[in-house]
Amino acid sequence: MSELAARVLVVEDEQQMLRFLRTALTAQGYEVREAVTAAESIVEATTHNPELILLDLGLPDGDGIDLTRRFREWTRVPIIVISARGREDDKVAALDAGADDYLTKPFSVNELLARMRVALRHAAQAGTDTSSTVIEVGELRVDQVRREVAVGGREVRLTPTEYRLLVLMAANAGKVLTHRQILKAVWGPPYMGETHYLRVFMAQLRRKIEADPARPRLLVTEPGVGYRMRDV
Ligand code: CA
Repeated sequence: MSELAARVLVVEDEQQMLRFLRTALTAQGYEVREAVTAAESIVEATTHNPELILLDLGLPDGDGIDLTRRFREWTRVPIIVISARGREDDKVAALDAGADDYLTKPFSVNELLARMRVALRHAAQAGTDTSSTVIEVGELRVDQVRREVAVGGREVRLTPTEYRLLVLMAANAGKVLTHRQILKAVWGPPYMGETHYLRVFMAQLRRKIEADPARPRLLVTEPGVGYRMRDV
């Protein structure tokens, strides 16, 4: 897998932003295609088969959330949404619609590249689907056959719900998951509104796996959106 040569479709109508992205990505060896409208992006995506899409939410002929939903009807290509500052509702809606991650303007090139690497890696893993029995994230190690969890070699005892929550977060390391996505996966669809469950169980998990639960390094909060296991 050569992630450096990946084909990236940038969907963005602001010329300055488009120029910034084109320059940054081309310098890293990415092959960049561009679209400035939703309609154009569909044509580009169907004809050039990108390996990753960077998608601005505010487009002249439609919004990126609907567009994400349309993409998801036929492709699982990773989509990273680019949104304006402070639009938490938009981010959540985009993630729930099937986007893989989001970046808030302004962002650094390094942050962008890191998120792109995570998204491309997840897509590659989903393609092979080894459903690896052992997941390792930094000092954290989850053995899914023995159902054993260890941090820095020290065994951690979890309740069944804490374990399911940890496996979900670890299997998606680096990727933000919305409250609804986590509640649906761990507790089931009827519980998608019960965000207080999450606060309680995240606090419990942090006490068990974080060196300093008040300053989590692994299980970080994405304010107004959800949680992310940092891919360290
Ligand atoms: Ca825009």
